[in-house]
Amino acid sequence: MADFDAIIVGSGCAGPMAAFELASRGKSVLVIERGNYCGAKNMSGGRLYTHPLREVFPNFASDAPLERRITHERISLMAPDANFTIDYTDQHMADPNHESHAVLRGRLDQWLATQAQDAGAEYINGIAVESLIKQGGRVAGVRAGEDEISAEVVLLCDGANSLLASQAVGTDPPSPAAMAVGIKEVIQLDPSVIQDRFHCGPGEGAAWLFVGDPTHGTTGGGFLYTNQDTLSVGLVATISDLMAAEVPIYQMLEDFKHHPALAPVLAGGTVVEHSGHMVAEGGYSAMPPLAADGVMLAGESALMVINAGYTVRGMDFALAAGTQAGRCATAALDAGDTSLAGLAGYRQALEDSFVLRDLKTLRRFPHFMENTPRMFNAYPQMVRDAMRAVFLLDGEPVKPLRKSLPPLAKKVGYLNLLRDALGGIRAL
Ligand SMILES: Cc1cc2nc3c(=O)[nH]c(=O)nc-3n(C[C@H](O)[C@H](O)[C@H](O)COP(=O)(O)OP(=O)(O)OC[C@H]3O[C@@H](n4cnc5c(N)ncnc54)[C@H](O)[C@@H]3O)c2cc1C
Repeated sequence: MADFDAIIVGSGCAGPMAAFELASRGKSVLVIERGNYCGAKNMSGGRLYTHPLREVFPNFASDAPLERRITHERISLMAPDANFTIDYTDQHMADPNHESHAVLRGRLDQWLATQAQDAGAEYINGIAVESLIKQGGRVAGVRAGEDEISAEVVLLCDGANSLLASQAVGTDPPSPAAMAVGIKEVIQLDPSVIQDRFHCGPGEGAAWLFVGDPTHGTTGGGFLYTNQDTLSVGLVATISDLMAAEVPIYQMLEDFKHHPALAPVLAGGTVVEHSGHMVAEGGYSAMPPLAADGVMLAGESALMVINAGYTVRGMDFALAAGTQAGRCATAALDAGDTSLAGLAGYRQALEDSFVLRDLKTLRRFPHFMENTPRMFNAYPQMVRDAMRAVFLLDGEPVKPLRKSLPPLAKKVGYLNLLRDALGGIRAL
């Protein structure tokens, strides 16, 4: 007889959702989280599409620690001395099914863990699971500190760079080209200042992504999200590029914050938090198997994350995958079969949901980003030069755009432009 029906490793986004499902259906559940409190070690940009929360907690909007609702989507192509921004706003962003909010993980993760605890899940904080117990090739529990704890099924919800996933399903850890590192500062500002600077009302705000200069022209990008009385500002850069970069990532963030387009937005703010975290970049094609005998993977431990340039998503996938993993584990426990065959419904449930459908649709995007360095240097500069040709006047006779624009495209190369445009269309 096992100590628990289910052990869940990690209480970020996926873990508490799985724990909630299992505990609500009367299963004995132990969640082991290495952070001294849930969220202590976690970080997102971060914008959360909230529909997976609504499905499980219909009243989440009045209860969960959400920051500002996103009412402005901004994307910038940033050159060292210029910035070109698209700002999109739409009343449909307020529809419950489309809604997204900025979140701070220290608060969100504690709220999620409380939902699982209130449903009956037991928690141990401040200790890491070091390895999996295997019996006859089947996962039968975990080792954490001095303890060996057994369970009918173990759910790995331990996030990016999972050390346990390869023990569970035998895959290699992702390569440096398939992993990125993110760093972020939380900068405090008066709520009315945030509203003035982002042209939004109380409780409303912006999700703003930047390509180009934030990462000094290497693969990755910058981000800014508006919280109630803070801004989350940071950048994500691919590890293989960072290894070759002349400028360390913390200096990239300093330079980004001092860019003439961003400095006035941050002016007068006080840095109240710094953080850094890995994020998987490989997408669908790099995903490991989602289950083996006695074990399931949910969220970023299974690389369920996508950075599509215009949006970063991982939390919504993790919340939904955690829910499905909890439901499928419950069904397998009820049927008395937590072997790979007994857990097979999990993959099918994700195939039928937005999780694997979206990851599959965007599966070419990581490859496109990795192989299109011009996105991060030549194109932001080309757009800057085009804008200069359109808007800068100095008393000299203007050149017609039909004459001033083609040389800019020629500088990048017509073939490159065509190839990248087709690659982008195929990837999206
Ligand atoms: C810079 C950055 C920006 C991002 N921006 C966004 C965004 O805007 N929107 C979005 O949707 N996603 C974003 N993401 C991705 C998102 O944060 C993740 O995809 C999401 O958190 C994954 O959830 P998870 O539950 O799988 O893992 P996590 O949330 O990482 O949780 C894993 C948990 O497991 C614990 N743990 C790990 N190992 C062990 C162990 N051995 N024993 C015990 N506990 C363990 C960790 O402490 C952690 O609490 C961003 C990520 C980064 C790094």
